[in-house]
This record gives sequence, structure tokens and C-alpha cells, in this order.
Amino acid sequence: MNTPLTIALTKGRILKETLPLLAQAGIEPLEDVFSSRKLIFETNRPDIRMIIIRGTDVPTYVRHGAADIGVVGKDVLLEHGAEGLYEPLDLGIARCRLMTAGPVGWQGGGARIRVASKFANITRRYFAEQGVHADVIKLYGAMELAPLMNLADLIVDIVDTGNTLRANGMEPLEEIASISSRLIVNKAAMRSRYSIIHGVIERLSEVAQGR
Ligand code: AMP
Repeated sequence: MNTPLTIALTKGRILKETLPLLAQAGIEPLEDVFSSRKLIFETNRPDIRMIIIRGTDVPTYVRHGAADIGVVGKDVLLEHGAEGLYEPLDLGIARCRLMTAGPVGWQGGGARIRVASKFANITRRYFAEQGVHADVIKLYGAMELAPLMNLADLIVDIVDTGNTLRANGMEPLEEIASISSRLIVNKAAMRSRYSIIHGVIERLSEVAQGR
């Protein structure tokens, strides 16, 4: 038998919303992915398997063809680029907004502002487009701490309910992008395994539209 089609899934919050979508499309892992420490999972479809990895690694696996298709947040594609990938479907799950945020009542900076984010590329692009001089400080987590500790004036982060910002005395300011999870496909696989990939896209598209 051929190598199974490999779907790379983003672990965490996105996974919780992806699995029901895949199940509705007829693809289910054979064991509970949340209680297992495995990274590769067989599914009820012998011709399809899943790997579960960090979101930032999903485009890398798919771009190199180590996975054929993947599910990843648009934030990751905007930050790390989507070259070499097709993005045929907005799954409409894990919706949130990428926003600038600052301490409540923040009045604006001087000639330069300091902005902390794990989305350093998006942040640089956004402030350059606004014609604002921003010193971008790359962080890997807990962005909302940076203004509290006077490491930065503003942050760029994902906002869903806004609770994380409020709990830290901050408020959302400008929306940079509206985010949801996307299906991505390796370009060569799209040609060489067209029929199975097309089938998966069709079924997921029906499920996503029906929600
Ligand atoms: P909230 O407090 O509901 O505004 O959630 C904000 C935090 O949850 C952010 O700092 C993100 O780390 C995380 N988060 C919320 N929604 C998503 C999502 N769709 N994708 C990735 N991270 C998210």
C-alpha cells in the first residue's frame, strides 16, 4: 500500500476544534489524542494518518512534503509566510483577532514606540504601513506582561474574549487581522495525490460551510 496521506494538525486549542470537523468529514483518530503522548496517529481511514505538532511547525512539515496537508492558524501563515503552500480552505474555526493592545488609557508614545510581540514580522509590517517608528521586541509568550514591566509600550497579540488583556490592565486598540484556521496543502502532493486530497478538501468544505 502507498504511504498514507499525512495530515499535520496544530495541537492545543485549534486541535479541539479541528477533530470534530474531521470526524464530521469521516476522519477519526483510532485513539484518544489528548491522553496519548504519541505524535503519529492512525485513523479509521487506513489511507490517512495524523501528526500532532506545534502550529509554527505545521507549514514547515507541509512545505517540505513531510506532511501532505495541514491545519494551522492564519496568524502563523501571516507571520512565517505561506510560500510553497496552497491555502484552499478557511475552516472557520478558532476564530480570533490579531490586535494591538496597550495599558488602559494609554495616550500614545513619543517619536518611537516599543512594541512587544511573538508576531515580530507582522508587527514590523503593520507599524511600517502606519508610518510609525516602532522598535519591535520579540517575545515567545506572556506578551501582556511587557507593558506592565515597562519592557514595551504596546503589544501585538491574539484577542479572543479580551479576558487576558483585561486581567492585566490592558485594552485592545487596533485590529490588524481577523484570524481563523486554514487548510494548507503541499503543492507537489496536490498534483501527485490529487484525488484523495481533493476528496478531503470537498468533505471539509461541506462540513465547514454547514456550521
Ligand atoms: P482571550 O483571553 O480570550 O482574549 O484569549 C487570548 C489568549 O488566548 C491569547 O493570548 C492567545 O494566546 C490565546 N488564543 C485565543 N484564541 C486563540 C486562537 N484562535 N489561536 C491561538 N491562540 C488563541
